[in-house]
Amino acid sequence: MGQRASGTVALSFDECRVPAENLVGRRGGGYAIALSALGAGRGGIGGLSLGLAEAALSSGLAYARERRAFGKSLTDFQNTQFVLADCRTELDAAWLLVMRAARLLDDGDKAVAETSMAKLFATEACGRVVDRMVQLHGGYGYSRDYAVERIYRDARVTRIYEGTNEIQRLVIARELLRG
Ligand SMILES: Cc1cc2nc3c(=O)[nH]c(=O)nc-3n(C[C@H](O)[C@H](O)[C@H](O)COP(=O)(O)OP(=O)(O)OC[C@H]3O[C@@H](n4cnc5c(N)ncnc54)[C@H](O)[C@@H]3O)c2cc1C
Repeated sequence: MGQRASGTVALSFDECRVPAENLVGRRGGGYAIALSALGAGRGGIGGLSLGLAEAALSSGLAYARERRAFGKSLTDFQNTQFVLADCRTELDAAWLLVMRAARLLDDGDKAVAETSMAKLFATEACGRVVDRMVQLHGGYGYSRDYAVERIYRDARVTRIYEGTNEIQRLVIARELLRG
């Protein structure tokens, strides 16, 4: 559907023998190693979502400045201003959550809840921002003439991979209830 520069395939390792010197970690300990990569991965998807949403917002802003309807620039309509204000506010909130998670990871913290919150909020804010920017482009938002059509497709998977957002909610709730 999107992110077409990144190939996605299933890998299978039937009867695959790995020399002992090539073993990563200890035998049987792979699951813990895989889990330890999740924090940085979730922060990364949060960052990726910020990039997509920022690109959509700048594209929408440029289009709204240029496009005239009923003798006015789109930016003269209060509805457009409200949409842009909501996008900027939600994106700034997402930035703060992603930066907090990144800071904690840099400090060696596992930041389990914080990386999940950053991924959850940034990807959902991204979805809302990109959707509004497609709307702001009118019919052009649905055509390949403008970047928002690609960004819309690229953004959708961020709520699915690196742990679906339902799983992020489970993680956040588990951490909250543990305390
Ligand atoms: C483009 C792309 C790239 C990917 N790249 C990678 C990669 O590099 N490495 C990798 O390992 N994987 C990768 N994946 C796989 C991705 O991480 C999984 O698709 C994702 O984690 C969801 O798992 P699933 O597809 O098995 O869905 P399922 O687990 O079958 O989930 C289906 C639905 O049920 C919900 N659900 C499942 N369990 C629960 C529960 N306990 N409570 C509430 N709701 C639940 C899910 O949230 C989802 O909505 C990629 C996927 C895509 C689409």
